[in-house]
Amino acid sequence: MNIAVIGTGYVGLVTGVCLSEIGNNVTCIDIDEEKVKTLRSGKSPIYEEGLEELLQTNIQRERLHFTSNYEEGIAAKEVIFLAVGTPQGADGSADLTFLNTVCSDIVKYLHNDVVIVTKSTVPIGTNENIKTSIEQNAVTNLTVRVVSNPEFLRQGTAVHDTFNGDRIVIGCENEEAMDIMEEIYKPYNIPIVKTDLRSAEMIKYASNTFLATKISFINEIANLCEHVGANVDDVANGIGMDSRIGGRFLKAGIGYGGSCFPKDTNAIIALGNRVDYPMFILESVQYVNEKQTDLLVDKIIKRFSGNIEDITIALLGLAFKANTDDMRGAPSVQVAHRIIDAGAKINAYDPVAVENAKSVLPKEVNYVKTIEEALNHANCAVILTDWKEIKEYPISLFRQYLSYPIVFDGRNCFSLEKFNGSGIEYHSIGRPSIN
Ligand code: NAD
Repeated sequence: MNIAVIGTGYVGLVTGVCLSEIGNNVTCIDIDEEKVKTLRSGKSPIYEEGLEELLQTNIQRERLHFTSNYEEGIAAKEVIFLAVGTPQGADGSADLTFLNTVCSDIVKYLHNDVVIVTKSTVPIGTNENIKTSIEQNAVTNLTVRVVSNPEFLRQGTAVHDTFNGDRIVIGCENEEAMDIMEEIYKPYNIPIVKTDLRSAEMIKYASNTFLATKISFINEIANLCEHVGANVDDVANGIGMDSRIGGRFLKAGIGYGGSCFPKDTNAIIALGNRVDYPMFILESVQYVNEKQTDLLVDKIIKRFSGNIEDITIALLGLAFKANTDDMRGAPSVQVAHRIIDAGAKINAYDPVAVENAKSVLPKEVNYVKTIEEALNHANCAVILTDWKEIKEYPISLFRQYLSYPIVFDGRNCFSLEKFNGSGIEYHSIGRPSIN
């Protein structure tokens, strides 16, 4: 099939590359000319396991092309995927500026009937508006079929998730378009949920906000565990073994971040307010999450008797989660700003996110290339991302490099047993501290 994908971010690029891998002829369009240049040379501008290899293979097979030119990009395409960002607007709702620009740009060059597939996360009703707007403004008389096909990939495992997803959701009110979508996705051999446009749009928001709810729920239980001397890891294990609850997404920590959970939770809250149906549970989910990151900093300051001025803190991990270079919504941003505002110094380490971190962390942060450099002579270590190399770090080195062996673990990377009798002070989330 001849396919165009508009937007080559985490979603668009992975979508385009994987669709070419299963045999389609794909052109990816992005207004960022630098990015297009990088992609044409076979380099991925984002860090995703396995992506660059597939990118290079399919460029060589001449099945994958990149351009900034809309006319060239959408010429003779049967299906156009929209994957531009839908960031949070000033009032919390999704800002559709990028998507609207794309729609007004593609109409200028559309000459054949086309299926428009929205992968971007969009408010309920958006796909109907896309159809009306394109049909009304197209230069020739053509039929536009719209499909809501929300994306569920997780950054860090995006390629794997595309080929091994739990389900593919196709919202569509036209049989022919549904057939085309099923044909495209057949090689993935993933169960397909067929539904109408509005339900598909809602499935995406309901999925993300449910996961955010699970995280805030276990974090709230974790905080209570700290007050009453229970261990949240055991609690999560004990409740997660109930198949009605399920064990995943019950890991206590410093709260969720990233470009999706915070903005999608806000978007649904804004939508509820707009239709006069306040989303009470999600308002609490968001409140608990915002507080969660601060609680860790409060703990650090309290440990140093209310004053961290002039001490040095090693921040281990900056990305919003492991295996990505994405800093959008990363808890490390809030943590670093509070630490610097309180007068402490920061040595920051992350295996891949440092370049992105530089634009969002305070300018005073000192970036280092190894964990040891971060720890060297620091007064404590604070773990913010559960990178494998951090989870597997030999704990004796904390004692060797830190001037005071104190570790604050915002991701519960280590078992308490590891620190018992180690001579290292260890504070984590929802578990007894080891002194
Ligand atoms: P992103 O910001 O990484 O990428 C967006 C890309 O679109 C950028 O490369 C940008 O240059 C390009 N772009 C902007 N305007 C354009 C235009 N007019 N024409 C062509 N290209 C244009 O975004 P993302 O993280 O890939 O997210 C895209 C959408 O997918 C969002 O709606 C998001 O909520 C949703 N989503 C994201 C994830 C995720 O994990 N990142 C997962 C599921 C769904």
